[in-house]
Amino acid sequence: MPPTLDLALLRDPALRPIGEKVTLGQRLDHADGLALYATNDLLGLGTLADFANRRQNGDRVFFSANQHLNPTNVCVLRATCTFCSFARTPKEEGAYTRSLDEVYAEAEQARGAPTTEFHIVGGLHPKLRLEYYTDMLRGLKERHPTVHIKALTAVEIAHLARIEKISEREVLAALKDAGLTSLPGGGAEVFSTAVRATIAERKLTGEEWIRVHRTAHQLGIPTNCTMLYGHVETADDRLQHLAMLRELQDETGGFLTYIPLAYHPDHNELGEELGRVGTATSGFEDLKNIAIGRLFLDNIPHVKTHWPMVTPALSQIALSFGCDDVEGTVVFERVYHEAGASTDMAMSYPQLVTLIRDAGRRPVERNSLYEALRDASDDAPPAPPAPAEPRKRSLPVVHAA
Ligand code: SF4
Repeated sequence: MPPTLDLALLRDPALRPIGEKVTLGQRLDHADGLALYATNDLLGLGTLADFANRRQNGDRVFFSANQHLNPTNVCVLRATCTFCSFARTPKEEGAYTRSLDEVYAEAEQARGAPTTEFHIVGGLHPKLRLEYYTDMLRGLKERHPTVHIKALTAVEIAHLARIEKISEREVLAALKDAGLTSLPGGGAEVFSTAVRATIAERKLTGEEWIRVHRTAHQLGIPTNCTMLYGHVETADDRLQHLAMLRELQDETGGFLTYIPLAYHPDHNELGEELGRVGTATSGFEDLKNIAIGRLFLDNIPHVKTHWPMVTPALSQIALSFGCDDVEGTVVFERVYHEAGASTDMAMSYPQLVTLIRDAGRRPVERNSLYEALRDASDDAPPAPPAPAEPRKRSLPVVHAA
């Protein structure tokens, strides 16, 4: 049965005309977006987003069995991306660069596991050339021929083009030839020039990020898109960012999913400047950004919740706020844990299935291209954890006054 929307459930009167537009499938404009960001009627906002999502995706929620690989954390923009906790200078403590054999060794965890995707991102290394990445992709494909490869953000593509003195199109074509399936959506942050001047002064501009993704789409490489929220940006900045994504999608149709990413302030300069260390975004903000992404990006089919950043519990609630896609098994998450994320590094396949099913949704495993691989609704629940060692009784400690 198609979902219905009861406008009487919207407590904030400002949401009602927007609800009428959503019911009619009409596009929301900037003023609508500002009203959505201004509302405190979170449940009303969620009702709208859930309706929009269910109309498109029913009760299905996608997940993937993926493995993250980060070949290097050395990055030439270490000093100017003030929100980043992952990057290091070449000689800094904790800097690493993997040989291809080390990358292949880490990827061996996919053997015998249900992995269908490698998600590969890293720093902008001053010396690693395009050949390192094309060899890596070929080597991974040789060893794991059925695993899709989603690799390198637009920022990494532009960096490789610069050091090779070739076009971004040539870099993308070479990577596709070596086995690239799709591009991740990282590096977008917020496109506003003023915001970038504060948090990522020397990174690709918003227009340049869009250009790389347009080129990828023209070459038949689908991509994801993101927005990093919860730092210095305004609602206006967020909506302009979303409008640019929506415009490119109208032109190419190449975006697969939109992923709002929550800023984490630990171990980075921006967090200290803002006095926010240890204070991540609120659940209210996280759910708002998920829901508004679903409503504003009416032409992007999927919206993903990134459980390592916002916690599995909040990701589960996000499935009633417009999300139809959950970040996968991951295996080892480095980037956000460097910034203070306190979630687990990985989630098992049965745990993911249970997370979705317990939210009343139908878990469907997908590949990188969002093709359904299997309906996991009837999978067995995860095995109970091994019993812990019995705790020894200890005598109460009496403190002397
Ligand atoms: S955000 Fe990306 S480009 Fe910027 S310093 Fe971190 S790894 Fe480098």
